Amino acid sequence: MSEAIEVINPYTGTCVGKVPRGGAAEVDAAVRRAKETMPAMRNMPLHRRAAILKKTSQLLQERAEAFAQLITQESGKTIRETRAEVARAAAIFEYAAEEARRLHGETLPFDAFPNGENHIGFYLREPVGIVGAITPWNVPLALAAHKIAPALASGNCVVLKPAEQTPLNALRLAQALREAGLPEGALEVVTGYGEEAGDALVTHPDVGFLSFTGSREVGIGLPARAGYKRVALELGGNSPIIVTQSADIERAAEAIVRGGYAVAGQLCISVQRILVHRTVREVLLEKLIARIRQLRLGDPLDEATDVGVLISKEACDRVEKAVQEAVQAGAKAAIGGKRIGPAAFEPTLLTDVRQDMPIAINEAFAPLTLLIEFDTLDEAIAMANATPYGLNAGIYTRDIEEALSAANAIVAGSVMINEVPTFRSDLMPYGGRKQSGLGREGVRFAMEEMTETKVVCIQRLI
Ligand code: ADP
Repeated sequence: MSEAIEVINPYTGTCVGKVPRGGAAEVDAAVRRAKETMPAMRNMPLHRRAAILKKTSQLLQERAEAFAQLITQESGKTIRETRAEVARAAAIFEYAAEEARRLHGETLPFDAFPNGENHIGFYLREPVGIVGAITPWNVPLALAAHKIAPALASGNCVVLKPAEQTPLNALRLAQALREAGLPEGALEVVTGYGEEAGDALVTHPDVGFLSFTGSREVGIGLPARAGYKRVALELGGNSPIIVTQSADIERAAEAIVRGGYAVAGQLCISVQRILVHRTVREVLLEKLIARIRQLRLGDPLDEATDVGVLISKEACDRVEKAVQEAVQAGAKAAIGGKRIGPAAFEPTLLTDVRQDMPIAINEAFAPLTLLIEFDTLDEAIAMANATPYGLNAGIYTRDIEEALSAANAIVAGSVMINEVPTFRSDLMPYGGRKQSGLGREGVRFAMEEMTETKVVCIQRLI
């Protein structure tokens, strides 16, 4: 395919650059080059892999401002957010360099069973071969790093299909990896659309492991299309935060606004539902409104901007419609509620929301939070669980029993206590339950998923 895809700045509407519209033929050629490079990567000593990853981290730090400016232009995220993202991507490569040195199996005590007398042995971890990586536009560099860094650390080759909205930073990352000494073919980037290049990667028989981050709508059908290969999915979320009677309301309010409106709410772990005990509703609401009012909307490249734009006009259409429908069903905008540009939506807080409304069940992916009251913790936990999602959740409370009950009963990949669900450390196992995904990322945990165990067993001839 010779056609090009234009990368559009969602804030200005102007073209930032063009990339090839790759399809099945380009994916096949990339997989072939990766396959040729597999022995070189597999046999590369760990210290060499570590050195390449560390050097990549350094290059990202040296080029941080250029990367940040580029991601802001591609995605509409604010410059402060993209600077933080580049620093995070650099840290992920650095951490993967350390984890590469710790890739090991262990000895097996075969003589624990009678048939194993006189046997000694161990298991080791081998790369799966080729990791197919499909990434979204909302955290394009750091999420690519979360797939590429552990894949290379464990000796794999990678074929990456970045989101069509944000492919330029992926190409620049690949360039940095090459400069850091990565062999040609160890990382191939195929730009293109999801249904074309993405699908070709999902279905390619030579890809050993597919790592996908994107929407639930697309992700849920991928295992059936992927055929006989391992699949990891990081899909959406609809994160609840429970605020109980004993909570530190000031700190909860500060964290909720931070977690609800970062990246204009377009994070899988954005705070969406604020489940508040009825007795503290008014005081929390007042504090939330005061803080949301202070958020500055505007040019994503302006240092002072807190909330940038949504990824596209279509995304903004979707949010506008969802908010209108919720208001028709009885919800009220305590603040915000309106579109203020082709791709810009006011930071919005809806009250009088019921858990059975579509807006409380579906993923918002917008600068939008919902306030829902509860009377008992059991009721709050039941509401927290009343969506198809189960990524991260949180609770603000000073009561240890409440905290532990929530940690125990919420079906989610992580439960944060006195922290918002939007908190993520790149070293923790990260992933979802229910329809939020399969498998875990977080460098060490991804490395486990991207490797096969092999047993070596030796019988002593005595
Ligand atoms: P979003 O709605 O956030 O853009 P998508 O799931 O559509 O989420 O996109 C996430 C990534 O998945 C992008 O790289 C996109 O190109 C890719 N993608 C979309 N549809 C498919 C598909 N049918 N098969 C494989 N990849 C896809």
